[in-house]
Amino acid sequence: MLDFTYHRPRDLEEACRLLATYGPAARVLAGGTDLLVALREENRRLAGVNQIIDLADLDNLSYIREDGDELTIGALTTHGEVAASPLVRAYAPLLAEAAGQVGSLQIRNRATIGGNLANASPAADTVPALIALEAVAVLTSSQGERRVAAGDLLAGPNRTALAAGEIITALRFSKLPPQAGSAFLKLGRRQALSIARLNIAVILYWDENGRVTAARIVPGAALPVAARVPAAENLLVGSVVSEELARMAGEKVGEEMLRLSGRRWSTEYKLPVIAALTRRAILQAAGVKVDE
Ligand SMILES: Cc1cc2nc3c(=O)[nH]c(=O)nc-3n(C[C@H](O)[C@H](O)[C@H](O)COP(=O)(O)OP(=O)(O)OC[C@H]3O[C@@H](n4cnc5c(N)ncnc54)[C@H](O)[C@@H]3O)c2cc1C
Repeated sequence: MLDFTYHRPRDLEEACRLLATYGPAARVLAGGTDLLVALREENRRLAGVNQIIDLADLDNLSYIREDGDELTIGALTTHGEVAASPLVRAYAPLLAEAAGQVGSLQIRNRATIGGNLANASPAADTVPALIALEAVAVLTSSQGERRVAAGDLLAGPNRTALAAGEIITALRFSKLPPQAGSAFLKLGRRQALSIARLNIAVILYWDENGRVTAARIVPGAALPVAARVPAAENLLVGSVVSEELARMAGEKVGEEMLRLSGRRWSTEYKLPVIAALTRRAILQAAGVKVDE
């Protein structure tokens, strides 16, 4: 276990002040499901870290709120709360689905949505859904507040573009309208307690004739950093979703995985599986029933 000094600020201002004082030697502690494991394993990503700032008393960062056409989720909201929220289930069902598939009940009761993004694991479950929703992260520091697209916060596997001293305080995104469909699918090694081997978030918008007007397809654990795949999205725009189109879009996601991640020992397995998972998610989002 790494040696560290423990701080428990009473409010956000104090947390920001502590972070500004200790800079890169400090890490905030949210649910602790990633950080405590890394501290115990003396993970090299924590080299030089010796100040832990526990956000446990910042209750006001745990909420789910409707602001007109938007939903705002406080960064300390747990996956369990996101998954059970009637607001999230109504207006961003793919995010409720993704949060509901994180780890086990115990993990979901502790782990937070802000921690999932800040940890920047390529396999994080809620991150593809947040990117598909075009969520914006609200970042707070002693300098003030700024907003960054959730996807732009990911600088690489387990690396973020958070500046020293910044805390993710909330995630905001537009509610999905009735003429949109979505899906989140995950294929894990085991049913519970599994970090996603592959996952996919899909959102489709369509016009009154059922033609896709916009598509967002975001595979997770397939690319070095979760991101949209425009080549697959563009295949769908302007058409009514069919099994054939969904299959072609799935193949495009596979091609993109190969291009960005290169061929690895797992490619033989992952390539057909990500293609099939994408196809299935597109058909589910479009409400097309398939017999499989
Ligand atoms: C057994 C087990 C199973 C798991 N299964 C899954 C799974 O199926 N899917 C999945 O996606 N993840 C899984 N995880 C990983 C983990 O639970 C999630 O990534 C979780 O959302 C992390 O949130 P946390 O609040 O626990 O973060 P913490 O561990 O508290 O923090 C993680 C990192 O983010 C930083 N951080 C946290 N909150 C903030 C913030 N608000 N602002 C800035 N930085 C912040 C911390 O400093 C730290 O570097 C699993 C973990 C375990 C131990």
